[in-house]
Amino acid sequence: MKPGSFSYRRPRSVTEALDLLREFSGEAKIIAGGQSLVPAMNLRLAAPGVLVDLGGIPALSELSVDERGRLLAGPMVTHARFLDDPRVQAGWPAIGKVMPYVAHEAIRTRGTLGGSLCHADPAAEWPALCMLLDASMTICGPGYSREVGAPDFSVGVYETALKEGELLAGVAFPPFAPGWRWGFCEISRRHGDFALAGAMAGLRFDAGVIREARLVVFAVEDRPRRMDAALSHLVGHAPAADGLAMAALSAATAVSPRSDLHASADFRQDLVLACVERALGDAAGPEPIGAAR
Ligand code: FAD
Repeated sequence: MKPGSFSYRRPRSVTEALDLLREFSGEAKIIAGGQSLVPAMNLRLAAPGVLVDLGGIPALSELSVDERGRLLAGPMVTHARFLDDPRVQAGWPAIGKVMPYVAHEAIRTRGTLGGSLCHADPAAEWPALCMLLDASMTICGPGYSREVGAPDFSVGVYETALKEGELLAGVAFPPFAPGWRWGFCEISRRHGDFALAGAMAGLRFDAGVIREARLVVFAVEDRPRRMDAALSHLVGHAPAADGLAMAALSAATAVSPRSDLHASADFRQDLVLACVERALGDAAGPEPIGAAR
């Protein structure tokens, strides 16, 4: 299939991009890596009259650590760059753990953080990861910018907090104290496919005892969901197999999975049970569960 006809613009600054969005309001669409938008255009699911390419704005491709220790990522940073960056691997290992599951290598070299967040596929890893890591998004509109926390950025299937004429300009990931360990599990038909269900967990240990616990379940409901309450009984204890199993059951009974062509709601509920238990086991570490750590 071929896309409908469109014109192409390549602004050199965010201001210029916002001007174009205003000038072509209703027909302009931002293009980042094109890895979701171009297939949608080829299938005629999207037919923008004007493509505004953010690839000519160097500031949007920056990846840095600021004086507060936050990882600041421009929306045009590709999935592959996160995998290759030693600062990310050292300070935000959860990102390194999850990135290999985002699509395939060729797509990871073109696909971007911002494109994934703005596309807001409920089965995408980035929106869930941003929730797990308490990331915040900077949104720019004509003459203003505003901050939105990750839980409020995805609002539904392919829907975000972005309004007409706005763009995502950056994502900030806070630093993490020593002691955090991260776990991940997703189930898909083939490696690189979108997940049928997935879970991401974070446990902060101190002297072998869990002091904080986070959980995000994704690809199950209309958007990822932070479900820390399912882990509350783990806090204050060393990890034990029955506690992790109870947390998985608690999460699986709390979700309201959707049914689609790929999986029924009942099947997804079973997958949540398996994914949460495995993600927690992954975060709890390689030592035998139940042993003092
Ligand atoms: P684009 O396709 O260019 O844009 C996506 C959308 O975001 C468009 O609506 C665009 O207008 C909007 N947009 C982009 N940037 C901005 C911005 N800064 N501000 C406002 N709006 C913006 N993803 C996963 O997470 N997991 C997977 O397992 C996975 N598997 C895939 C398998 C295949 C075969 C393919 C083709 C894709 C897969 N993807 C998967 C999607 C992939 O990760 C894309 O990279 C991702 O969706 C973002 O695409 P992009 O950066 O190319 O954005």
